[in-house]
Amino acid sequence: MLDWEALEQRCMSCNQCGLCSTRHHVVFGVGPRNAQIMFIGEGPGEQEDLKGEPFVGPAGQFLDDMLSIIDLSRHNCYIANIVKCRPPRNRDPKEEEQDACIAYLRNQVALLRPKIIICLGRIAAKRILDPNFRITREHGTWVERKGVWMTAIYHPSALLRDISKRPETFDDLLSIRQKIRELGIAVMPPGL
Ligand code: SF4
Repeated sequence: MLDWEALEQRCMSCNQCGLCSTRHHVVFGVGPRNAQIMFIGEGPGEQEDLKGEPFVGPAGQFLDDMLSIIDLSRHNCYIANIVKCRPPRNRDPKEEEQDACIAYLRNQVALLRPKIIICLGRIAAKRILDPNFRITREHGTWVERKGVWMTAIYHPSALLRDISKRPETFDDLLSIRQKIRELGIAVMPPGL
C-alpha cells in the first residue's frame, strides 16, 4: 500500500488504460484525508476532466446541495471515483478500465479507513456493493462489511435529469444522516 503522496503521484502519471490518451487531467479525489465519510462516483465528466477535481459541474453543485441537507460538505467528506480519467463523451467506464483503475480506489479506502461509504449511482454501486445491484430498487439500503457501512444513492446527474427521483433520494439522505448519528461521527455544519 502506498501513502497518500506516493499514490497521488503514481495516479497522476498513470497510463494503465486507454483513458489516459484522451484525458486533460487525472481526477484523483478531494477532501480531508482523515474523513470518516466517503462518496464514490463512477468517473470524471467534462468539467471535472478540465479542472482535475471530482463533481465540479452542475452535478457537483447538486451534490453540494444534497450534502448540505444533512450538514455535510467537502470539508468533512472525501470524494473519489471508480476511474480517475474521463471516459470520452461521458460513456460508462468499461470493465477493463475499471479493473485497471480500481487499485487506486482500494488504496484510497485503505488509507482513509472511512466508517461510511456512499456510492453515487449504478456503476459505483455495482462495482463496490454487488455486481447485480439494482439502483432503482436497492438505493438507500445498507450493508456492513468489515466495520464499514455502505449504501448507494442515485447519481446527482440522474437527479438533475429526472426530478421524480428526488423525494426517494431525500429519504436516503435522511437515512445517511441517521447512520452518521448512530455511529457517533461528528460532523460540523458547513461554515462553523
Ligand atoms: S483511468 Fe485509472 S487506470 Fe486508466 S489511465 Fe486513468 S488513472 Fe490510469
